[in-house]
Amino acid sequence: MLNCHCQDCQRSSGAPFASGIVVAVSATDITGVPKTHTVRGNTGGETTRSFCAECGTPLFTRGEAVSEFMSIRFSTLDDASWFKPELDIWTSRSQPWVCLNREIPQFPGSPSV
Ligand SMILES: [Zn+2]
Repeated sequence: MLNCHCQDCQRSSGAPFASGIVVAVSATDITGVPKTHTVRGNTGGETTRSFCAECGTPLFTRGEAVSEFMSIRFSTLDDASWFKPELDIWTSRSQPWVCLNREIPQFPGSPSV
């Protein structure tokens, strides 16, 4: 579980960072066909964001750089009470007024997988 402060996550979430749960693509079963939007990410590879075609809720994100993993967006959780970020990434792009939790690891960019 993480918070990503990259500019693209800021844009796509409409917030100073996007929260998500990183899982192996092989461990997921996606039903239905979401709408997608692909952008060039901070690492130079393509990042594809999927969202609900009906309501626009961000669903998950997949990046070319680490294609075996995906981030399920926080906004998909019916019960978000158990969500607890374990790291912050792309803190080099975080807004100066965001209060980062100093008790969890922070990475100025993407941590190596
Ligand atoms: Zn991001």
